[in-house]
Amino acid sequence: MNIDKERVEELRNLLAEPRKIVIVGHTNPDGDAIGSSLALAEVLTARGHAVTCALPNNYPYYLRWIPNSEGIIIYRNDKEHRADKAIAEADVIICADMNSLTRADDLGAMVASNTTAKRVLIDHHLFPTEVFDIMFSYPESSSTAFLMYTVLVALYGEEVINQTVATQLYVGIMTDTGNFAFSNLTPDLFRAVAALSATGIDIPQIYNNVYNSFTEGRARLFGYTINRKMKTLLGGKVAYMSLTEEEMRRFWFQQGDNEGFVNYPLSIKKMKMSAMFTAQQGFIRVSLRSRGDVDVDTFARRYFNGGGHKNAAGGKSFVSMEETIAHYIESVNKYHEEGLV
Ligand code: 5GP
Ligand code: MN
Repeated sequence: MNIDKERVEELRNLLAEPRKIVIVGHTNPDGDAIGSSLALAEVLTARGHAVTCALPNNYPYYLRWIPNSEGIIIYRNDKEHRADKAIAEADVIICADMNSLTRADDLGAMVASNTTAKRVLIDHHLFPTEVFDIMFSYPESSSTAFLMYTVLVALYGEEVINQTVATQLYVGIMTDTGNFAFSNLTPDLFRAVAALSATGIDIPQIYNNVYNSFTEGRARLFGYTINRKMKTLLGGKVAYMSLTEEEMRRFWFQQGDNEGFVNYPLSIKKMKMSAMFTAQQGFIRVSLRSRGDVDVDTFARRYFNGGGHKNAAGGKSFVSMEETIAHYIESVNKYHEEGLV
C-alpha cells in the first residue's frame, strides 16, 4: 500500500524526541482497534516514549489473551482517572481505528478537551470528521492493523516488527478481514502477513484464541438467534435479527458474545444485506453488513446516525426495539425503491 511519505516524515519528526503519548480506540473495541493500538504502543515504548493506551469500554473476553492488553486503561472503569491525567499531560494523541472522536464517547470528549497536544489519526474508516495534525486515513486498507504495519515499517523498518507486535497486528488483520474473506485483500496485505509470519507467530493458535474460545452460552445464543430471531425482507434478500436484554440474560450473555452473528445471514446465497439489533443500556446498537454494491455505510449514515465501511457499518437507535425494527423495515424499503438494495 502506498502511504503518504510526507506524512510519514511529519510523524517521524514529531516522534524524534521522547513524548508523552496517548493512543485511543473506539467504543466496543474489536480485535483491530486493540491489535493496532497495542502494536503501536509496543514500538513507541521501545523507542523511549511514555505511552498510555485507553479504550472507552471493555473488550470481549476472547481478546484478553492479546499480549499486553492487560495494560490498556478502560475509561469506564478508570476510578483513579489515570486516562484523564495521561490525556491532560499528553504531547501527542493518536486515534487508531476510528474516524471521529465521537466514536470514543466520553473518552473522545476528554481527548477533545486537550487542545494543545498534536493529534494523529491512523484509520481505515470512510470520511474522518475532525481535523488531525497528521492524518493517515486509508479506507482502502482492509484493517487499521495492516495500515499500522505499513506506517511502522515506513517509519522504522521491518526490525521493529517483533513477535509480540506481529501477534498484535495479526489479530487486527485476521478479525477485520473475517480471516481473509472480505474485500481489499491485496498482494501487499499478504506480503505484510508473510513478514508477520516470518517472526514465528503461531497463526492457528491466534485463530483458536479468538474464534474457538467462546462459552457454551454463546454457542446456544447463536443457534437461538439464527433459528428463532432471523427475519427476512424483499423475498429473502435482506435479513435482520434482534436481541433483547431478557434474551441475552437467558444465555448468560457476556460482552462480545453476539460479535459476528450479523455476518451469518450473508452465508445464504441470495442475501445482500443483514442487520443485528442488540439492546444496550439506554440505546440499541445497530450492526450492518452487506455484499457487493449494497452500501451499508450510506445506509447507516442516513437512517441510523452511524457509518463505517461500504460492507460493514454500524449505528445507534434511541427508540424501542419494535420501533427500531419498524424504522429498519421502512428504511430498507426506501433503499429498495432507490435501487440501492
Ligand atoms: P460493528 O457492526 O462490528 O459494530 O461495526 C462495523 C463497522 O461500523 C466498524 O467499522 C465500526 O467502526 C463501524 N461502526 C459501528 N458502529 C458505529 C457508529 O455508531 N458510528 C459510526 N460512525 N461507525 C460505526
Ligand atoms: Mn478496523
